[in-house]
Amino acid sequence: MPFYPPSWVPKLPFDPPDSIPICDFMLEETWGRHPLGYSRPPFTCGLSGKAYSSLEVRERVDYLARALSKELGWSPNSGSEWDKVIGVFSVNTLDTLPLAWATHRLGGIQSPANAAYSAAELEYQLKNSGATVLFTCVPLLSIAKEAAKKAGIPDNRIYILDLPKEFTGGKTAPNGMKTVDNLISEGEKLPRLEPLAWKSGDGARKTAFLCYSSGTSGLPKGVMISHRNVIANTLQIAAYEKKFRDAKIGVGNQSDYIENALGLLPMSHIYGLVVICHASVYRGDGVVVLPKFEFATTLQAIESYKINSLYLVPPIIILMTKNKDTLAKYDLSSVWSIFTGAAPLGQETAEDLQNIFPSWKIRQGYGLTETSTVVCSSSPDDIWFGSSGSLLPGIECKIVTPEGKEVTGYDEPGELLVKSPSVVLGYLNNDKANKETFQDGYMLTGDEAVIRKAPSGYEHVFIVDRIKELIKVKGHQVAPAELEAHLLTHPAVNDCAVIQVPDDAAGEVPKAFVVKSPAVGLEENDRVLARNIQKHVEEHKARYKWIVGGIEFIDAIPKSPSGKILRRYLRDKEKEARRAK
Ligand code: AMP
Repeated sequence: MPFYPPSWVPKLPFDPPDSIPICDFMLEETWGRHPLGYSRPPFTCGLSGKAYSSLEVRERVDYLARALSKELGWSPNSGSEWDKVIGVFSVNTLDTLPLAWATHRLGGIQSPANAAYSAAELEYQLKNSGATVLFTCVPLLSIAKEAAKKAGIPDNRIYILDLPKEFTGGKTAPNGMKTVDNLISEGEKLPRLEPLAWKSGDGARKTAFLCYSSGTSGLPKGVMISHRNVIANTLQIAAYEKKFRDAKIGVGNQSDYIENALGLLPMSHIYGLVVICHASVYRGDGVVVLPKFEFATTLQAIESYKINSLYLVPPIIILMTKNKDTLAKYDLSSVWSIFTGAAPLGQETAEDLQNIFPSWKIRQGYGLTETSTVVCSSSPDDIWFGSSGSLLPGIECKIVTPEGKEVTGYDEPGELLVKSPSVVLGYLNNDKANKETFQDGYMLTGDEAVIRKAPSGYEHVFIVDRIKELIKVKGHQVAPAELEAHLLTHPAVNDCAVIQVPDDAAGEVPKAFVVKSPAVGLEENDRVLARNIQKHVEEHKARYKWIVGGIEFIDAIPKSPSGKILRRYLRDKEKEARRAK
């Protein structure tokens, strides 16, 4: 018997529609969205205060789609969505989501890349996704151009997302390059586009976002997230939250309560993309957009824009608990809820934060790119530190032991399997990974979980370990296989294995076990060699992938008879060594 959401969780108000694009769901009221005229501006720049109302956003999306249609020769009903892939490599901007919705209006796909990527990492994603157009921002332009050139995207297919001068220091797009604002001005003068002629089921078949995740093993893969997947998770979050949003105003009308949410987390990652930018905006909330994490600027934005809900990851919460004095300098009294996800939040850290802000509801959610984000989350009136809360409506899960036995009771660990309308279409061009990950309607998460009965009497999900080959550094994915492949290109590395080790600030960081190549002389100093290998990673990979957990030289990498690295063995050995220290 699978586990289902507890009885208090309301059902979905309606089946997630499968014949409309995300832009219609987000911009039209037909689908239960908060009335446009009464909602907060969907996105407000947390640095400059610039904002567009909901109605203006709808207009900007329309004009941008018209302009892109003319620029790129794409029309809503021509070709397949795979002929219309737009890569986005940028920090958060006011126009990141309007650009996605304009792309969807043209029947295309947005493939967002992590703004910390090196040119080589971006090149990989651009080539793998088949992007023929790239949107970037001025501070990342040189990396973007280098990657685009190698991926065969010409300079006249690179466009700029506008950022406030407070962030760029007044640096603007080079002459001859078009910005989103330029395109919107052009689009205003162009004729209306034909409507999308979608049949029933198209919204469930067509990819809207191609985000990258390494899944349970191997290199980062394109995750095909359909329109219906995003719509489903947005509805699931909205339905789950309805009860306590209603309670805040004491009436049964969700549309009466709106708030400001912190839009700091990257919109390139599923958490920022769906939980913040879709679920909040659908409810009529405003998202205060910040391009980059900077502690004082974030606290100032919370004070200035009276932000009510903070969407965070554990490393930022740790930083908060260690800097009480800095927190005290700002008026954070508008905040009532913080929501954390993307990596586990330690119970002690949650307690530390609660001691500083006794009235805050400290909530944890659990989700994956492959489930279009949230699977479960804590409800404000049923918080149990350490738990990731209860299942969202429309989600069922199973817990399966390594022996393949389905767990039916509490407190027994096993792999978490999820069934939900938000489970994605699969990985792009990767049958093997699809077969391993999506089975009988369930997504195999690669996370170890237990179900426990909370003091409230409701069932909660606890994520107790990670079975899959994935390292989470500050909430970002690091694929061991990617680092291992790169390490092997160093002449001193004969074989290697990368695992995660705990880190106070980042949660986890990569550590490498390396077998030296026979060419390395005995006189070579290990410390110098380790530094040299670390530098090889630093020169080619995003900062969060750097091997700051250290390099340990060993004689042989432990492997199974079939050649699989025995990571569990290495992790256990590492744990023992740390305990002994
Ligand atoms: P991503 O696709 O980048 O969102 O990564 C998903 C993975 O992050 C999950 O499979 C988990 O391993 C981890 N994760 C996300 N949320 C949590 C959480 N609340 N507790 C523990 N791990 C989490």
